[in-house]
Amino acid sequence: MHRRSLHTPKLKGSKKYRVNNFSALGLSKPTLDVLKTIGFETPTPIQEQAIPILMNDGSTDFIGIAQTGTGKTAAFGLPLIEMIDMGNQNTQALIMAPTRELGQQTAQQLVNFTQNNKKLNVEVVYGGAAITNQIKALKRTTQIVVATPGRLLDLIKRKAIDLQHVKYVVLDEADEMLNMGFKDDIDEILSYTREDRSIWLFTATMPPDIRKIVHKYMDAPKEVSINTSEKINKDIVHKYVITKTAHKISAIRRFLDIQPDMRGIMFCRTRRETQKIADELGNLGYGVEALHGDLSQAQRDSVMKRFKNRAMQLLIATDVAARGIDVNDLTHVFHHTLPDQIEYYTHRSGRTARAGKTGISLAFINPREGKRITELEKKNKIKFEHIEVPSVDELRSSRINSWANLIINTKVDDQAEEILHILQEQFAHLSKEDILKRLITSQLDHIMVSSGEEANLNETHGDSGSKRSKGGTHRYFINVGIIDGLTKSDLIHFISDISGVKRKYFSELSLQKNCAFFNVDATEDKDLSKSFKGIDIEGRSIRVNRDDEGNKRDRRPSSYSGKRNKSKRKGAKKDFPGKRKKRR
Ligand code: AMP
Repeated sequence: MHRRSLHTPKLKGSKKYRVNNFSALGLSKPTLDVLKTIGFETPTPIQEQAIPILMNDGSTDFIGIAQTGTGKTAAFGLPLIEMIDMGNQNTQALIMAPTRELGQQTAQQLVNFTQNNKKLNVEVVYGGAAITNQIKALKRTTQIVVATPGRLLDLIKRKAIDLQHVKYVVLDEADEMLNMGFKDDIDEILSYTREDRSIWLFTATMPPDIRKIVHKYMDAPKEVSINTSEKINKDIVHKYVITKTAHKISAIRRFLDIQPDMRGIMFCRTRRETQKIADELGNLGYGVEALHGDLSQAQRDSVMKRFKNRAMQLLIATDVAARGIDVNDLTHVFHHTLPDQIEYYTHRSGRTARAGKTGISLAFINPREGKRITELEKKNKIKFEHIEVPSVDELRSSRINSWANLIINTKVDDQAEEILHILQEQFAHLSKEDILKRLITSQLDHIMVSSGEEANLNETHGDSGSKRSKGGTHRYFINVGIIDGLTKSDLIHFISDISGVKRKYFSELSLQKNCAFFNVDATEDKDLSKSFKGIDIEGRSIRVNRDDEGNKRDRRPSSYSGKRNKSKRKGAKKDFPGKRKKRR
């Protein structure tokens, strides 16, 4: 039997109405016996508040504001089981859930709760599976039906289910159902139920659309709200990096690279973004897959199977698709974009640090999103640590180390022995060191940081490009570009070498075909143009000018052609650092 105890430390907290067992909540002896068997000893806050209300008057309409993982299934499931008339074979309760996974988990919990009662039957129906089997299953006595809205409507229209006797309708994760576009389906389904049925609505958030449902269908509902700030698990360490939106993928790659053993979920806001990022990272060779609502149920199942089997490092998901995912041992949760609704942060980060382990929740924010972090800190009473995106140097040494470990830990195959025998003679003139050097050279693409990768991906709060050039930075032009065989990193090294200004003070480098533009912090700018006076490369003068008008004309002297790799100041030889690196 699947059983898991809640990991949220706050459950141990005390409230004045806190009871330490289920017996005070009005549940019957058989239900209390089952709870003992399945190891539910202490009610969670939503259970201790909702169960007495529902046990006292099941015919009331009810609103429970609580999220997944708070024990809300038992909060409505236990009273529901007590209300069902076992002698009656009709469907008396309907539970609507946004996804198949959540529906299955809910049904499984209800089956656990009713394990001593063979007369009470629960069935779960959802889209993406053969409807004929579900029609057949519903022909048996089924007092409680758990369903996703779309499939339920289909079954109603095929007359495979009769809602006339339904006295209780539970709308579970109502906000998610609306987010997924089930509003019309829910309206239609409710129109098939009796006027006097009770609605128990559970939701993590209270957007206006939920309020509309409440006003339209519910009568003086009793409301219980579980404070979100209580639910952040203390074992989660919250961190964030600041990087430009355009650099997020590069930043994420660095974290994946330096922590090859990490395993987690990355949340994105839209289905399209989720797929695009998964494709991009997948094409770069990372073990990632997407999970979102545009995938068929079969596709989602197989992605989840691979994720559970550890066949991938990072699951890239939308908030909705990741609901109800129950996977332990995740070391990280990444937020490619922070969620629009602050409550979702709790959902997301709660995917890590399960079962007493610690975990990291890492948000990738752009320079303008600093206030979102402050908001999350306040609302959730947590503290975020600002960390840097790993530097190119860290990345390089990590790649070198992992490559070395891969070689060292590779199990030698029998075939290798055979091939070695054949090759021994050919390699006879090479020393171990020579062979290693050649091997490293052949693997440079994997272990070195490629030229397309930005050198420094870190930004500071409020540090958008336009702001910087207006405020604390000066914009410069240099008549050196891609045609000179330089990467951005090479050029920054070169400019820094010549000017004596440290690399960290340069930003916003835009490398073009035959010229480049960059910013330098105003405080460090001792007139860069002067530093480059007298510097020439193969007889051609290097020119650096202030470019605060953003003038991007090609100022390459027309006499110039071909590649340049030497520069001189007053006769002194000067090389581009990139060129030096390549020759090494
Ligand atoms: P839920 O929010 O209903 O999905 O519950 C989250 C998990 O907590 C499920 O695995 C439940 O089995 C478990 N759970 C719920 N209530 C309790 C409780 N009072 N004691 C121990 N485990 C619980």
